[in-house]
Amino acid sequence: MPATTTTILDAISASEEAGRPIPDAATRETIAYAPVHTVADLNQAVTTAQAAQPAWAALGHPERSRILHAIADELEANLEELAVLLSREQGKPLDGPNARFEVGACALWTRSAADITLEPELIFDADGARAEMHHRPLGVVGAIGPWNWPMMITVWQIAPSLRMGNTVVVKPSEYTPLSVLALVEIFNRHLPAGVLTAISGGREVGAAIAAHTGIDKIMFTGSTATGRRIVESSAHNLARLTLELGGNDAGIVLPDTDVSPIAEKLFWGIFLNTGQTCAALKRLYVHDSVYEEVVATLAAMAEEMPMGPGLEAGNVLGPLQNQKQFDIVARLVDDARERGARIVTGGEAASELGPLFYRATVVADIDDDAALVDEEQFGPAIPVIRYSSVDDAISRANASEQGLGASVWGNDTEAARQVASRIQAGTVWINQHGTVNPHIPFGGVKASGYGHEFGAAGLKAVSAPQVISY
Ligand code: NAD
Repeated sequence: MPATTTTILDAISASEEAGRPIPDAATRETIAYAPVHTVADLNQAVTTAQAAQPAWAALGHPERSRILHAIADELEANLEELAVLLSREQGKPLDGPNARFEVGACALWTRSAADITLEPELIFDADGARAEMHHRPLGVVGAIGPWNWPMMITVWQIAPSLRMGNTVVVKPSEYTPLSVLALVEIFNRHLPAGVLTAISGGREVGAAIAAHTGIDKIMFTGSTATGRRIVESSAHNLARLTLELGGNDAGIVLPDTDVSPIAEKLFWGIFLNTGQTCAALKRLYVHDSVYEEVVATLAAMAEEMPMGPGLEAGNVLGPLQNQKQFDIVARLVDDARERGARIVTGGEAASELGPLFYRATVVADIDDDAALVDEEQFGPAIPVIRYSSVDDAISRANASEQGLGASVWGNDTEAARQVASRIQAGTVWINQHGTVNPHIPFGGVKASGYGHEFGAAGLKAVSAPQVISY
């Protein structure tokens, strides 16, 4: 009999007495109680993962890939139930590039982690000497994730790690534990015991993972501030790190760009997941020649896009996931208003929809020293900044300490590529923003972190390079 949402939730929930209530992001009603795991539970999970790792590695790539495909099938078979839970806990609607899309992406990335080949490389062959580079398992990977794309980002961390023969201990964000526990429940229908364990703990458990001497690699996605703490911890245990940190992605719309063909991709580059996306467009620099047209187009789209509770069909924008993030967005927009910026649309809570809804907001006539431009808003409010010289726009885009993504928009792809080559970011998109692909490496520069996920680069990142010379 196929599993239902209730069955998955039953399997992962704690009792009311022992657990922590997790609210529905839209209604604030309790969905279920998440288990409260401690550092002692973490230590036990690491010991178990260490014990399970040699047998998991010994299975070999073909068998591990087969298991990952079976997991992807299981994710697809349970897509609707998982999407409903994700929508309730995270807030993103079922429709649009949101909850169903995220669960589908989990299956896609699991399959790609299974299928990408990583052959030994012959790196030297001359004068009778040869050297090959192999990629071995590292041991135990600790995966620590955020609350914005909780299932998909967890899959990005755990599927390549498992494929390469590591065992994994995963800690979800304290805001979205149920989504990740449900995902792990599905994985564990096919994995041997001890290979993957979820520890539903708070920030102190995250810190304990980072400092743990039994963990060989940390896959971390979250804020730059937490990333810096993890780097400090790694001085002691020398764990390898992949750090996917915050972003304040700039977009540059070049002179005389035709606005209507790019409008939809521009909108979703900004408002994907109601702006709660690491590599969303967070500062938009628009040339004088098309400034008013871009502002008016984005504002009109923002007003038309249906926002509301995720389970109501047709909504494509949802609430902020938590009060803290809501307060950040409201503060940054209020500050912009007080500085004299023009709130073209939005700029206020949509309280009639629920406590954490904030209208899709477009702010014009704003400049670089405003907090809404300089800080990561991580929500549905875009500052649109006017420029007249492309060189100036590039230097303003590069002025941020962050360097996750960026985008260049224009009619002439070659001209856009030239501009892209001068931007300091791990990915620069042309006439799109934030699109990811399991075969294309993704990662940041500067304070957005280091290391790559996806593709062969992502598999190498969760393995130990070993040279064999003969
Ligand atoms: P956060 O840093 O507050 O928390 C992320 C995770 O770290 C949580 O699981 C948390 O419990 C854990 N944690 C907290 N303190 C810790 C410590 N001292 N040691 C180890 N772990 C600790 O981030 P968040 O608010 O959940 O996520 C939002 C941020 O994540 C934004 O800045 C966003 O840009 C970034 N993000 C980046 C990417 C990317 O791929 N670069 C993707 C998604 C989100």
